[in-house]
Amino acid sequence: MGSTGLLERTKQTEIKIAKETLLEVRNLKKYFPVKAGILQRTVGHVKAVDDISFTVKRGETLGIVGESGCGKSTMGRSLIRLYEPTEGNVIFDGTDITNLSERKLRPLIRKKVQMIFQDPFASLNPRKTLGKTLNEPLTAHKLFGNKKEREERIKELLNVVGLHPSSMNHYPHEFSGGQRQRIGIARSLVLNPELIIADEAVSALDVSIQSQIINLLEELQSELDLTYIFISHDLSVVRHIADRVGVMYLGKLVELSEKNDLYAEPLHPYTQALLSAVPVIRKKGVVKRERIVLKGDIPSAANQPTGCVFHTRCPAKMKICETIIPEFKEAKPDHFVACHLYE
Ligand code: SF4
Repeated sequence: MGSTGLLERTKQTEIKIAKETLLEVRNLKKYFPVKAGILQRTVGHVKAVDDISFTVKRGETLGIVGESGCGKSTMGRSLIRLYEPTEGNVIFDGTDITNLSERKLRPLIRKKVQMIFQDPFASLNPRKTLGKTLNEPLTAHKLFGNKKEREERIKELLNVVGLHPSSMNHYPHEFSGGQRQRIGIARSLVLNPELIIADEAVSALDVSIQSQIINLLEELQSELDLTYIFISHDLSVVRHIADRVGVMYLGKLVELSEKNDLYAEPLHPYTQALLSAVPVIRKKGVVKRERIVLKGDIPSAANQPTGCVFHTRCPAKMKICETIIPEFKEAKPDHFVACHLYE
């Protein structure tokens, strides 16, 4: 592969079928043991991700929203086995990667799926120049034959994310917050990925920088045929970038739909409460919804309520909700919800 790899791949992907499934997640669970006592015996489990299923189509952006601690970041990490799933299957581009050895996982997931984190600075080595940092994955995956080609590739990447090629000689502390996130994006692109999981990627940035980074992500998506899973607690940001949106609560996916449908007509009482805080923009101007204030705190994921996990806070709770877990079902075409109100 030469230094024009990015552009080559753009041309190739123009003839791909636009909306085929790239990722399928089936009944994914990630439980963390809770240990106690001198012997550190397992006394329970934190159900960080609990029986989640969804698909991601090639070229789309799936937004995942939910309050802090709902399990969305754990879910993102479990998809690429940074956390080993407790149960369930993750099928990437037709291959079930759940039980693949690290050797087989490497050319597939470690190369084709990348993550962008909230704080790219934390994962950059302060003693290495940007050039050295970006060179590491190229060398590890033996993608380019010689130093000059690798250098060209790094300069091209920096250019693509809006940084000057001379940045490769600078150290992480010399960059601003927005520039560091551009570096995070450049690093995620080094290996020509197909899927990028952005975990609160713009949450730490000022609003004006946020929109620059989101615009950059959108440009890259259309140029490079990238697929995104965009994880965020910020419903306004997700609304801007996502095609479909999934809502998580206490380790469960409670609603999933095409973006406009979800924001215009949320079905799950939790989604309705979340969106009631977000102003709606209509032709006649900004319309405010009636604010739904939820009572109580999110229960502990180590001690989930029985039945519907939301029943302790749900304004529409029924008797059945206390004991029976609602199935995640299609309530309207392409609009899925886990709630007894729609059964
Ligand atoms: Fe509320 Fe019951 Fe629906 Fe859960 S299943 S969201 S408690 S109405």
